[in-house]
Amino acid sequence: MEKKLAGQIAIITGASSGIGAGVSKALAAAGATVVVNHPVAATKNAAEAVLSEIKNEGGTGMTYQADVSKEEEVKKMFSETIFQFGTVDILVNNAGLQRDAPFTEMTLEQWNYVLSVNLTGQFLCAREAIREFIRRGITPEKSKAAGKIICMSSVHEVIPWAGHANYAASKGGIMLLMKSIAQEYAGHKIRINSIGPGAIKTPINRAAWETPEAEKKLLELIPYQRVGVVEDIGAAAVWLASDDADYVNGITLFVDGGMTLYPGFSTNG
Ligand code: NAD
Repeated sequence: MEKKLAGQIAIITGASSGIGAGVSKALAAAGATVVVNHPVAATKNAAEAVLSEIKNEGGTGMTYQADVSKEEEVKKMFSETIFQFGTVDILVNNAGLQRDAPFTEMTLEQWNYVLSVNLTGQFLCAREAIREFIRRGITPEKSKAAGKIICMSSVHEVIPWAGHANYAASKGGIMLLMKSIAQEYAGHKIRINSIGPGAIKTPINRAAWETPEAEKKLLELIPYQRVGVVEDIGAAAVWLASDDADYVNGITLFVDGGMTLYPGFSTNG
């Protein structure tokens, strides 16, 4: 594979499983040194396993434990990365979770937990990344941009989701966080975009694809008639982070097999 991200340092949050693990492997295969972030001691082994796979394929990086919703932990993750590798060129704001409940039964704790990881976590990490991108500026031999951020959003930044109001609100929030900071820092040659995954087979949505019956029901929502895999998102992340996407700023790239195409209308509504 062509090393389109050679010499670049990438932090991927929530990377000990699912999409974050897949994106870490894809960025590493494209030549980036990856920081495989994970939140707690219990996720360390899984993060180490992701890093081992990357190293076995010739990649480099480290694991780093930090809860993205905690300001001091995020700051330490960035300062330690800069200490170890010199800088940060790419941030993939991927960490996210669900705490589902019918709206009238949703507790404030469920609401706050989802917003603090999914939205505040993206704010805290993006702020540290942009501070470093501005400090360092452009390194022409690495990239035309001074830095790239990819926010892991969801089709639920535009598709309402009953029973998941906290999650959908967090993803809608990511959309305007991403666009606002893309607008604010474009003049610094910083590119900020989102990926909006549809249904990707990961632990977060196992119940939706685990049995043939569940998968059949899920496919009703996917015009392309295939449930996504983490490699679909990894390929999109490599492209968005590379100079091939140098003129792409402030967009959400939906990688969803057409889930956002209102499939209910495919037979004329
Ligand atoms: P996942 O559960 O495998 O991954 C989420 C990761 O976030 C886990 O590794 C978890 O340890 C980590 N995490 C949770 N809290 C954290 C914290 N406080 N600090 C750091 N890391 C933390 O599920 P996934 O599907 O890989 O989800 C990754 C992202 O993709 C999420 O933002 C999710 O909303 C988004 N997404 C997934 C799908 C899908 O179909 N799988 C669709 C749309 C969007």
